[in-house]
Amino acid sequence: METHLKSYKIMNTKHSSYAISNPHKIDLDGVQKASFGSAILGVLFLAAAFLGVQFPDTRIVLAISLSLIIVGTAIYARRTYLLQPEGIKNNHVWFNPLTSRGVWAWVLSIILTSFYIVLYWFPKYLGLQAGTSGKNTGLVVFFDPLSNLLHGKDANQWFVYGTLYTVLIVALGIKFIYKYRHNKYQVVRTSVVMGSQVLFAYVIPEILATLNLNDATNTQGKYLGWYDTDLKNVWPLDYDFFSKWHLDAMQVPDYQPLGMTYLIWGIVLFLVVTPFLSYLVGKRWYCSWICGCGGLAETAGDSFRQLSSKKLSSWKLERWMIHLVMVFVFVMTAATLYGYFANTGTIFGLSIYTYFQKPYGFLIGAAFSGVVGVGFYPLLGNRVWCRFGCPMAGYMGLFQRFKSKFRITTNGGQCISCGNCSTYCEQGIDVRFYAQKGQNIVRSSCVGCGVCSAVCPRGVLKLENGLNDDATRYIEPEVILGNDIDLMKYTKK
Ligand code: SF4
Ligand code: SF4
Repeated sequence: METHLKSYKIMNTKHSSYAISNPHKIDLDGVQKASFGSAILGVLFLAAAFLGVQFPDTRIVLAISLSLIIVGTAIYARRTYLLQPEGIKNNHVWFNPLTSRGVWAWVLSIILTSFYIVLYWFPKYLGLQAGTSGKNTGLVVFFDPLSNLLHGKDANQWFVYGTLYTVLIVALGIKFIYKYRHNKYQVVRTSVVMGSQVLFAYVIPEILATLNLNDATNTQGKYLGWYDTDLKNVWPLDYDFFSKWHLDAMQVPDYQPLGMTYLIWGIVLFLVVTPFLSYLVGKRWYCSWICGCGGLAETAGDSFRQLSSKKLSSWKLERWMIHLVMVFVFVMTAATLYGYFANTGTIFGLSIYTYFQKPYGFLIGAAFSGVVGVGFYPLLGNRVWCRFGCPMAGYMGLFQRFKSKFRITTNGGQCISCGNCSTYCEQGIDVRFYAQKGQNIVRSSCVGCGVCSAVCPRGVLKLENGLNDDATRYIEPEVILGNDIDLMKYTKK
């Protein structure tokens, strides 16, 4: 109570509020302004590098820039959330132009989509080999010191992207932990998301690739880069896994034993590990704990989770789209493997590259997952890609729906129909619909983020792994209404 009152006083020095349960803060204090300003300064250094500003010592400025973003965000989040009581933090979400599709949401969305368009199709504008002698300039050259430190060569656009991606997950992951610190599941889950991004997707692949790649003796011109050596990048999300260039690259003598290890690991991962873990705990083990796309959505995209559409039509569209993409990847991979073993580039007279790989790479791999998937966070919510397009989510969703121990149980008698759970479900599931009836939630699209449970003021929802039998999974108890005449009948039961 003492902490409570202290926070109440601090937060309400200017604007009086009588709410002691959840004091509403309106103005930023000095610490918040300074830390927020520091994080923005870090971003401005990146913007300056992008615009071609030359720094006297790039190493130091890069280190300062990335540190300012992480530390500034962490201090800001600490100051913002730690002074308030633990619990649900949804204040002003629908009044803030950034989080309610206002002008700042549009500005951010335009910046993000533009960044992805340049990253995928015009990396020259990021500075990739844009110098007169083919040397990097701009934002790419800004990351050269770090790239050289990690794997002894100059950066490319993917290294820049991987680094910024990781920095964002770490910085906003810290914010997420402060915000949801009342919920142990969120704290542990987010720590794992941050750790797996930093270690398995960033540091370890970079180091392994450095140890195993010898460009001087690599006569076949293949390259196992950051993306290919991400230990948690699974087919069918990694749709290129069975492409000829990738299979060939894994077998290049210079890359052994790393290449074959990745090849075997990749096959075991989708064939054994994915079905088994989805059976045990649902698709959350990947979507909300390990996956990089999910990691970014949960951390950087947290402020936009309420924007997911809950319409029935969206649910119908989601089922069609995600399964169509999944079927397309399966067909494309079958065609690719046929081409690989038959040593041909065509199937039924159709070019495998032109009719399968090229359109998929352009439409799904780049435009959907990147440009729309992340660029539209502020407009459509943080899981558009995971919900409508990810073939991996579709694949695991089949296990989750038909063969899994996972379900969300609901204690319907406690539900006050506030709708918090449905509002903050990033997958657009109308959680309240189930909660009101006391019905278990078994939905293929649920990524098990647990936020519905974390924001429920009545403790109605619980993510559980129980028996995999229909009798306990799809439980829908009789609804007892207050005006039932013979309540004693139920009591005796
Ligand atoms: S139902 Fe709950 S756990 Fe599942 S995706 Fe929605 S918010 Fe996350
Ligand atoms: S389950 Fe919880 S969050 Fe959802 S409507 Fe009921 S009380 Fe509100």
